[in-house]
Amino acid sequence: MHSTKVGDAKLNAPHTGATRIVITEFMDEPAVAQLANVFDTVYNPALVDDRPALLAMLGNVDALIVRNRTKVDHALLAAAPKLRVVGRLGVGLDNIDVAACKARDIDVFPATGANAGAVAEYVIGTAMALLREAYTRSAETAAGAWPRAALSNGREISGKTLGLIGFGGIGQLTARLAQALGVNVIAYDPMLASDAPIWHQSGVACRQLRVVLEQADIVSLHVPLTAETRNLIDAEALSKMKSDAVLINTSRGEIVDEAAVASALHAGKLGGAAIDVFAQEPLAAGNALANAPRVILTPHIAGVTTESNTRVSALIAQRVAAYLQQS
Ligand code: NAD
Repeated sequence: MHSTKVGDAKLNAPHTGATRIVITEFMDEPAVAQLANVFDTVYNPALVDDRPALLAMLGNVDALIVRNRTKVDHALLAAAPKLRVVGRLGVGLDNIDVAACKARDIDVFPATGANAGAVAEYVIGTAMALLREAYTRSAETAAGAWPRAALSNGREISGKTLGLIGFGGIGQLTARLAQALGVNVIAYDPMLASDAPIWHQSGVACRQLRVVLEQADIVSLHVPLTAETRNLIDAEALSKMKSDAVLINTSRGEIVDEAAVASALHAGKLGGAAIDVFAQEPLAAGNALANAPRVILTPHIAGVTTESNTRVSALIAQRVAAYLQQS
């Protein structure tokens, strides 16, 4: 991957009109304005849902900026013969055919690190909500029902064990937040050697997958979607977890067997689940998780906050602009 230094771009240079950028999903407006100041920029967040219109406008495009819903596949690349760079307003690259981009010498820039804090806070927030089980009865309380007995058996996060599956950028930040709350953190990441300095530096114990599943009160997934991670959390993996453990998936929907999670919740074999990502987004009618008990379902927003949107958009605007101006 190209390693242009962030901040190199002269974003106040005059608009030449020669270099074309198309942005297909929502981006922070000041970052769009910075690009539009220098380049011929089309910003239309509706393009992600109008594939024919998108493909039709790519003939002269040098740069494409997407989030996670625009499929940068063979058909799109074929429609964009001049494409040189793809900016990804986020981290996972599973919607981008990175190998095909590489073969065409198209650089792909993810916004690594810029939304990690938002995801880590989501994990801690949902873990605490699921363990405490106290925030679901506002309407009854307001109506005078006073469900005090029902809500008096919630659990604290302090003293619990968080099991991370994947110990990269987001996993490591989540560990730091959890440790500040008195949580013991263990992690499984086969790409990191068991004597890698990060284990000692972070105070996180390196464990096998089976041990993480068996010992954790909170299991949180922070792996990319790959052939190895697809369906990693299936019925068998769930059966190894404590029956009152909570599962948090902010990585990719396909990593979890959604029907198996729903069955485990219905059967009381899983304490709760916070699911931000789904095999099919938006959810299709009849998704098994829709009626499951003790779930928090969110529409792929763990990494998206006001602050992270600003950080992610500024970073990608800078990287794409710097690349276009130097190549
Ligand atoms: P990262 O690349 O920094 O870390 C991923 C880690 O997973 C690496 O340390 C890698 O060694 C490890 N890994 C790879 N294969 C593994 C396997 N089979 N088993 C266990 N570990 C494995 O990525 P990150 O920034 O921490 O992000 C992780 C994922 O989170 C992204 O790929 C993306 O899919 C997802 N994400 C989601 C949102 C959201 O809004 N829901 C936002 C950002 C990222």
